[in-house]
Amino acid sequence: MKIGFIGLGIMGRPMALNLLQGGHQLTVWARRAESMQPLLDAGAQGAASATEAARGVDLVISMVADAPDVAQVMRAVATAATPGLVAVDMSTIAPAAARQIGQALASAGVDFVDAPVSGGEVGAIAGSLSIMAGGSDAAFARALPAFECMGKNIVHVGASGAGQVTKAANQIVTGMGVLAVAEAMAFASKNGVDRSKVREALLGGFAYSKILENHGQRMLDRNFKPGFKSWMHEKDMNIVMQTAHELGLCLPGAAATAQMFNAMVGSGLGEEDSIALLKLLETLSGQADK
Ligand code: NAP
Repeated sequence: MKIGFIGLGIMGRPMALNLLQGGHQLTVWARRAESMQPLLDAGAQGAASATEAARGVDLVISMVADAPDVAQVMRAVATAATPGLVAVDMSTIAPAAARQIGQALASAGVDFVDAPVSGGEVGAIAGSLSIMAGGSDAAFARALPAFECMGKNIVHVGASGAGQVTKAANQIVTGMGVLAVAEAMAFASKNGVDRSKVREALLGGFAYSKILENHGQRMLDRNFKPGFKSWMHEKDMNIVMQTAHELGLCLPGAAATAQMFNAMVGSGLGEEDSIALLKLLETLSGQADK
């Protein structure tokens, strides 16, 4: 299949590489030309703009940042639209924004799928992402061969926006999960107990989670390199809170977590991985940097 790929950051780069390895013919575009080089070296064609990346392809995929970015690249895509083009956005944005972008693309004759992912950089490199899709059956079927190169657990959740609703639910769980693990680590060491032993004990019991295993280890290593930037998680928690506000929905745990991510950005930790929540808790509690 001919695929255009827009946005080659932490996630987009390995996802695009997996499409190439899956035998697809790939045209890539990134805002900073140097981000394209690893893909060009691997055999992709470079485009001069998002519009050019979408020209003459069967499928165009974006992996950028927030809703205004997706809207911007999809406006460019629409100008190149040929009949039958399917556009897929795999960034995390608000469900309402995804529906609006889908409607705008439909009026240009482009079928749209919102297909955010979970699994992080590790899952993107391994091609084992969880992909949660919203859109028509026909558009999902067109995109499926591409999804199969990038992910393992691929669920067509429902109509337009349903993928982003699922991703927001995912971020409630992962945001609170990272905060829970960071709190457990801070709690252990403030009590003078070895946090690595605490983690080891918890891993064998009911508190086990992938977050305790992977993020917990990174907290022990104090490896705050992103991964998943804290400002991105702040964006996602704000999507959760804004959507809950529109629905009159009470989400007290997510609200507290969103406040912590606001504090991450406000205290200059936005570009660090979301596990740097541990550093923030330590600062708030007068714990020396370990
Ligand atoms: P990233 O490393 O910051 O990459 C984002 C890329 O999008 C950057 O290369 C950026 O270009 C480009 N971009 C942003 N706005 C753009 C625009 N208006 N036009 C053109 N290009 C634009 O972020 P990431 O971690 O890959 O995340 C990408 C998306 O996946 C986000 O929505 C994030 O929430 C979601 N996500 C991330 C993870 C994770 O673990 N990292 C996991 C699941 C989902 P520049 O380099 O020029 O800034």
